[in-house]
This record gives sequence, structure tokens and C-alpha cells, in this order.
Amino acid sequence: MPTRPFPGSLRRLGEFGLIERFKRRASQTSPSVLRGIGDDDTAVIRMRSGQLLLLTTDLLAEGVHFELATAKPGDIGYKAAVSNLSDIAAMGGVPEYMVVALAIPGSYTIAQLDDLFQGVIRACRRHGVQLVGGDTSASRGGLFICITVTGTSRVGRPLTRAGARVGDLLYVTGTLGDSFAGLNILKTSGARTRFSATSHDGRHLRYLIGRHLRPTARLREGQLLAAHRLATAAMDLSDGLSGDLHHLCKQSGVGAEVEAAALPLSAACRWYAATRHIDPADFALAGGEDYELLFTVSPDDRDTLARLVRRIGFPCTRIGTIRPKTSGIRVTPRTGRSRFLTPMSYQHFRQPATPGKTSVP
Ligand code: ADP
Ligand code: MG
Repeated sequence: MPTRPFPGSLRRLGEFGLIERFKRRASQTSPSVLRGIGDDDTAVIRMRSGQLLLLTTDLLAEGVHFELATAKPGDIGYKAAVSNLSDIAAMGGVPEYMVVALAIPGSYTIAQLDDLFQGVIRACRRHGVQLVGGDTSASRGGLFICITVTGTSRVGRPLTRAGARVGDLLYVTGTLGDSFAGLNILKTSGARTRFSATSHDGRHLRYLIGRHLRPTARLREGQLLAAHRLATAAMDLSDGLSGDLHHLCKQSGVGAEVEAAALPLSAACRWYAATRHIDPADFALAGGEDYELLFTVSPDDRDTLARLVRRIGFPCTRIGTIRPKTSGIRVTPRTGRSRFLTPMSYQHFRQPATPGKTSVP
């Protein structure tokens, strides 16, 4: 884990300030690039054939995104693949090909690396993706795994972060905060041994840990939203709703209002928050790595979405409304007046490395 603090200027700039700077320097002009640096979950490129290529990469670094104390190599490989597949899901795309690059410290055993690779392969098989190459190097630091995935837009119209309009309804798939709760359990020594595996509480623990170690990419849901032209904007939640929502609003030029009481929470997450005396809404707002989709729907399409939800069991919950940019991005607590929603989610360089990319509320 890095112990030296980042220089003050980098800390001030933060991860997203740095990406903005890179974007300005690259000054992309090619009309074939429809979504480029910093715009979306994947780049969108119009190929000569006219087909749209989705391209995304994600890097996991030991001590920043994971620690061997809380995740097995197989879990790390699986999650590295899913974090990319989730970005393809956010665009409503179909993932196709993957390459995996590894930098490996000398302390790793062959058995650990077999397990790591098996995790990547399992995620590929589960999602019908072909692993076609990569790169391998020694590392003088920790383990690094960087995965790149390509995909296509079957309906020729990817979902982007840019189309939300004032009055649109804000939704998320699944439940929020489970991964964060799972990480907290893994980091709390003794938490797992306090409950028997078959007890009610033990089942909650296992569920939350599973959601942290083996997340699901919402590919089917993203593809359905794209096929039915239901989402005006979409993104995946990798850093935490309170921060990620700002990216969607920025790209769409709008504000938003989130209702804390509407945030979807699993019974397990509520139970865990109660044992820690924390408001579970904070888990949902701050916790990262849920890999659920955040999307907006025109009020005219509300009934169509409801029918889809009923017909094919599409798990989603309305959590708020898109507002004018001038209203800002706000959250209305269960009781009391609305307040500005400050990002509580993870941003590299801004805070000390917290394996799991999640900040503690
Ligand atoms: P996600 O969490 O969806 O994977 P990121 O937060 O990693 O997305 O990145 C946000 C945006 O910034 C994406 O468009 C990504 O391609 C871009 N980006 C991130 N890092 C870099 C970089 N080093 N150079 C160019 N673009 C970058
Ligand atoms: Mg993303």
C-alpha cells in the first residue's frame, strides 16, 4: 500500500481533475470518436464499417483496490473483469473481446496466479466474452491487473451519460451499499467468526461478502434499456452514487434530487448498518463497487418501464428526479430539508488508499 502522501497539487487536482487535464492535452478532434476521454463509461468509436465500437479499460492495484488479506486471487481476477463488463453494460452494449495485462511481484506463487487467471476466465465464460491476449511483466511493487474490453452496440445507439433532461425520473438497478458493507465485514477482524454460517445473521454476512467479492455486471438490464430506448442517460455505479451522479449530471448539463428514503437497500445491508449504528442510506450514497446501473427515464416512458419490470423481472427502483442545473445536486433526507449532495465516494489522490475503493461514511 502506498504510504507516502501524494504531492499537494495532485491531491488538490484529484483523479477527475487530472483526467480533465489529460483530455485538454489530447485535444481529440477525429469525428469517428463519438465519446472520448472523460465523457463516458466507455469510448464510442464509429468504425469504417459504420458499426460502433465500445472500448474500455480498468486497472486494479494491490493496496489501492484490493488486499490479499480480504480477497483471494480468483476474486480479484473476477472483479477486474466485471468492472470492465459493467462499463459495457452502462452503455447498453454487448461485450466481445478481452485482453489482460499483469504486473506480478516475485512473492506470488503459481497457484495464486492460476487462481487469478481462473477468476478472469470464469467471468469471461459467464458473459460470453473471448479472452484473446494480454501482457505479462514482473512488478517491484504490488500486483497490478489491467483489463481492456471491446463491445458493440447491438441497436446502434449506445446509452450515454449525456441525455438526461429536466423532469426525467432517476432510477437504479438492484440494491446499493452491499459491496461496501461486505468490505467492512471483511476488514473487521472477528466479524465473520461471531456468527455461525447457517444462522440468519451468518447468511446476511455471506451475502454481503459475496456482493463485494463477486459483483454482477448488469449487461442484460443495460441491453434492455438500450433496445427499448428507455434510458435518456445511463452510467454504472463504481465509485459510489454520491460522486457518480455528479458525472451523469455534468455530462447532461442538469441537476438532480435524490430521495434518501427511496434508496434500495437489501435486508442484509439494513441489518449490518443497524449493527454499526450507521444510517444505511449513507452506505448507499458513499459505498463503491456496487456495479449497479444509474439511469434516467422520461416520465412519458414510466409505464413502459413498469411493464418491462413486471414482465421480465428487471430489478430497479426510482430514487429521484432530474432538476435544472441551477438547483444543483441535492439529497432529501427521510426527515428535514434537502441539502447539497457532496461526493462521499472514492476519488484517487484525494484520500489515503482504502483497498476496495470505498470510503467509510
Ligand atoms: P469508470 O469508473 O467508468 O471505469 P473512470 O472513472 O475510470 O471510469 O474514467 C472516467 C473517464 O475518464 C472515462 O472516459 C475514461 O476513459 C477516462 N480516463 C480515465 N483515466 C484516463 C487516462 N489515464 N487517460 C485518458 N482517459 C482516462
Ligand atoms: Mg463506469
